[in-house]
This record gives sequence, C-alpha cells and structure tokens, in this order.
Amino acid sequence: MLIQNKKQKSYVVVGGGYAGRMAALRLRTRDRAARIVVVEPSSVVVERARYHEVLGGWRQWKIPMAQALPRDGEHWQGWVEAIDATNRVVTARIDGEVRRIEADGIVVALGSRARGIESIDAKIPVFGAEEPETAGVVGGSYTKDAPLVVVGTGLTGIEIATVLAQRHGAGRVVLVGSEEPGSGLSEGARAYTRAFMERVGLRFALGRVERVEGDTLFFAGDERWRAGAVLGCAGFRVSPFAKEMGWPVDAQGRALVTPTLALPNTEGIFVAGDLAACHQGNAQGPLYRSACATAMPMGCHAAEQIIRSAQGQKALPFSLGYLVQCVALGRRDGVLQFVASDDRPTPRFWTGWRAAWTKEAILRMTWQAPALERCLRVPVFRWASYQASESKAEQTPQNKAERMSESKTDGHTKPAV
Ligand SMILES: Cc1cc2nc3c(=O)[nH]c(=O)nc-3n(C[C@H](O)[C@H](O)[C@H](O)COP(=O)(O)OP(=O)(O)OC[C@H]3O[C@@H](n4cnc5c(N)ncnc54)[C@H](O)[C@@H]3O)c2cc1C
Repeated sequence: MLIQNKKQKSYVVVGGGYAGRMAALRLRTRDRAARIVVVEPSSVVVERARYHEVLGGWRQWKIPMAQALPRDGEHWQGWVEAIDATNRVVTARIDGEVRRIEADGIVVALGSRARGIESIDAKIPVFGAEEPETAGVVGGSYTKDAPLVVVGTGLTGIEIATVLAQRHGAGRVVLVGSEEPGSGLSEGARAYTRAFMERVGLRFALGRVERVEGDTLFFAGDERWRAGAVLGCAGFRVSPFAKEMGWPVDAQGRALVTPTLALPNTEGIFVAGDLAACHQGNAQGPLYRSACATAMPMGCHAAEQIIRSAQGQKALPFSLGYLVQCVALGRRDGVLQFVASDDRPTPRFWTGWRAAWTKEAILRMTWQAPALERCLRVPVFRWASYQASESKAEQTPQNKAERMSESKTDGHTKPAV
C-alpha cells in the first residue's frame, strides 16, 4: 500500500530514540500542518542514560512513546525495512503488513545497540547491557569465586558495575576492561572514581575478554576465570541499516554524512544520532561522540535542515560544543567532568552529591525541554556550538591513544551527557 498525500508536506523519522524523537518534535514546531510519521518498534520511551537506574531497581521504562512524539503525529509501531533515497520512499513493516510512504523529508535515526559478548554453550547468564533480560543478573547470587563480571570500563560500564556492586556486596562484582576505568576523565576524576569503586568493593581487572564458554570467561592470552554471570558494556554497534542500503559508511557502519548531516547525493534525507559519522570542526576534527548529548542536537538540526530545504534555503553545517561528561556512582554520588568544546576533559570536575544532582538535572532536561517544545510548539531545545580552541584540556590515557591512532574513531565506550 503506497500512502501519498501531496497537499500537506509529509516528513518521516525512522527511529524513536533521542535523535528521532527530537527531530519529530522540531519538525512539528516548524511545520504545524505537516504529516509527521515516526517509525519505531518500541511502545515506551527508553532512556538509555538511565539504564543503571533500572538495574539499581529505582526506575522502569513506563512513559508511552506517544507522549514523547509530536501531537497530531503518527507512530507506526514497527520496523523500517528500506529507504529509496532517490524517490524518498520509506518502506516499513507494521504488524506484519508492509507500508510505504513518500516523504518530503526523512530523518534517519536508527542508533545503536550495546555490544554483547560472544558466548559458546554458556552455562551462565550472558547479556548485552540493554537487553531486557539483563535485569535477570540483578536477582542472581554471586560469590568471590564466581562473580558477576561487567565487561567494559567506559562510563556506562562504571555506572552499571558500581550500582550492581552496591546491590550484591563487596567482592562479588568485577569490572573488566582493556583500559583503566574512566580513562577519558581527568586525572583527579579518575582517582575519585577508583576510590569510589574500592569503597563499594567493586573489583577491577585489566584484560581483553574474548568469549564465554560454559561458565568460563576467556581472555586474550591464556587467562581464564570462572564467572557467575557476564554483562557486556564494551561499546556499541551501530544499526546495520546504512550499510544494508548501500549508503557510504565508515568502518563501524556509520553513515558518512556531509557537514550538514545530509546523506550525500540525496535531497531531503538527513542522518542523526549514533548512526551519523560527522566530524567536529572540519574533516580532520574528531567524530562527534555517540551520546544522547549528541543525538538530541543532531535530531533537531536535521529537522531544521529539512524545513530549510523545503523552503528552498541552503542547509547549514551542524555544530555542537560539549560542556560536561557525567558519570553516576550509585544513586547519590558521581563525577561531573568539565570538558573543552571538543570533549577533552579539563582539570575541573565535581564529585559527590553535587555531581549526582547535576547529572539528574541534565537528564531531566533531556526530557523536559522536548516536553515543553511538544506542548508550546516553539523551539525550546538549544545547545552550545563548537568553539575551536587549544584550551585547558588535559591529556588522558584515552585521548592520547585516540589522537595517536585515527583508526580508533569508535569513542563508543564512554557515553555521557
Ligand atoms: C546502557 C547504555 C547507557 C548509556 N548511557 C548514556 C549516558 O549516560 N549518557 C549519554 O549521553 N549517552 C549514553 N548512552 C548512549 C546513548 O544512549 C546513545 O548515544 C543514544 O541513545 C543515541 O541516540 P539515537 O537516537 O541515535 O539512537 P537510539 O537511542 O539507539 O535510538 C534508535 C532507535 O531506533 C529504533 N530502531 C532501530 N532499528 C530500527 C528499524 N529498523 N526501524 C525502526 N526503528 C528502529 C530503536 O528501537 C531505537 O529506539 C548509553 C547507551 C547505552 C546502551
């Protein structure tokens, strides 16, 4: 069935994550008469930045997706199967039925999934960070000899492991990774994080996990451990969609977009969020990090450019300057790392309840600003632009390594708002 409507503009957003929801809301703000369709399988809003809170037992996903999408918009609850970029036709599968829609503008925001750990005949639970079954690891009982192992020492791994260590007790949770925990933080923030981990009895081991076989964790080299359960937080894997469509992609499968976030050689198609490979500053600059702090501005920007294109105006380049990275340490503690515009940490950081509350305020803002925009239909959500400067940024083990190796563009292990 081909659904067409030429009287009003039709905009389609594929993916209802941080980027997609923001794109849909901004499209509605800018064009109140348009038909806006969001294709997204989930019926509830998943706030991934609060995932550790779900594991901590003080949050559940319960906000209906409809409350986060534009009023008078359509939620096609299903999967996009193809996009004909030449004719701007989106094909989706909804309840087993194939639907097609011709659009005046399309935002592709299909995001990423947490990377799991390879397992062979596993006799223990092995999960990727955001699989719904992950909550099962909370109920398990672990010992010092067969601990719950969280793999990945990025900020997501730290947040999840500290919450689980507090739940299960000293020594029963181990954080494993090939880098020191929080290696992208300043020296002082790193030291605070390590001290907190020791305080809650969260063990740490350096190593590269290869797979789980039976109840054993195999590391690169000869080392192997018995484990009670394994939770993978070792980075994210972007949606394979861009690659499957034959669009230009980088080694991680992210769509290589122009500085405006447009899909090259197409009109009216923009990519936003984790699926977009876009550089800060110029083509030599680092890639924007995968984070909700990036996805929301990108979604908004993509929507603005669709409206500009529809009005015959030139699309503008995307620009975002980072301000902070936050890491929650349990419910009432944390680290708030101030960063330069290019996301490198400065020596300045906050800790304790002040950091925890600031992170909470930022997370609320990621919900409240779009909610206000939805309600008022004025452009409420804003962000800082990138400022190129050799500022007070600090050298860290991570950014030293990243800057030395251009191949390590996958900064996925350290999301933060
Ligand atoms: C456990 C965890 C914790 C994190 N914590 C933080 C944090 O504290 N701070 C931070 O800034 N970032 C954090 N991140 C990263 C952050 O969540 C991502 O960078 C962000 O979600 C990217 O937003 P997005 O809109 O691009 O993609 P996503 O949020 O991944 O949304 C993509 C959407 O597309 C949908 N989709 C996928 N395939 C299809 C299809 N074929 N058809 C239709 N819909 C489809 C999915 O259902 C999903 O809703 C975390 C990530 C994880 C996994």
